Amino acid sequence: MHEYPLTKRIVDIAVREAEEQKARRVLAVRLVVGETSGIIAESVQMYFDVIAEGTPAEGAELLITSVKPEMRCPACGRKFIRPRFSFSCPDCGALGEPTETGREFYIESVELEI
Ligand SMILES: [Zn+2]
Repeated sequence: MHEYPLTKRIVDIAVREAEEQKARRVLAVRLVVGETSGIIAESVQMYFDVIAEGTPAEGAELLITSVKPEMRCPACGRKFIRPRFSFSCPDCGALGEPTETGREFYIESVELEI
């Protein structure tokens, strides 16, 4: 349930941005969410609608870009998207190591109606 405080922060940032730009309202918030970040996009969406109610972010669209987890092969250096039930490098079969790709969670941009 840690999506709630995270979503609260997203709404706060969007509202602050709207106030700073003297915008009428927030049209959309673009989020980047890695599939191994542990954040469930559907929960963020659900909380967003509740938290944004009564703020300039009410009714804003939440556009979520999900990022597939990428692994790096320690043997041959190849980077690859982790297959569903495996961690092996598709080239040499060595066990891949996780990278930062897939763990991201951040606001890409906030679209405002000025
Ligand atoms: Zn390899």
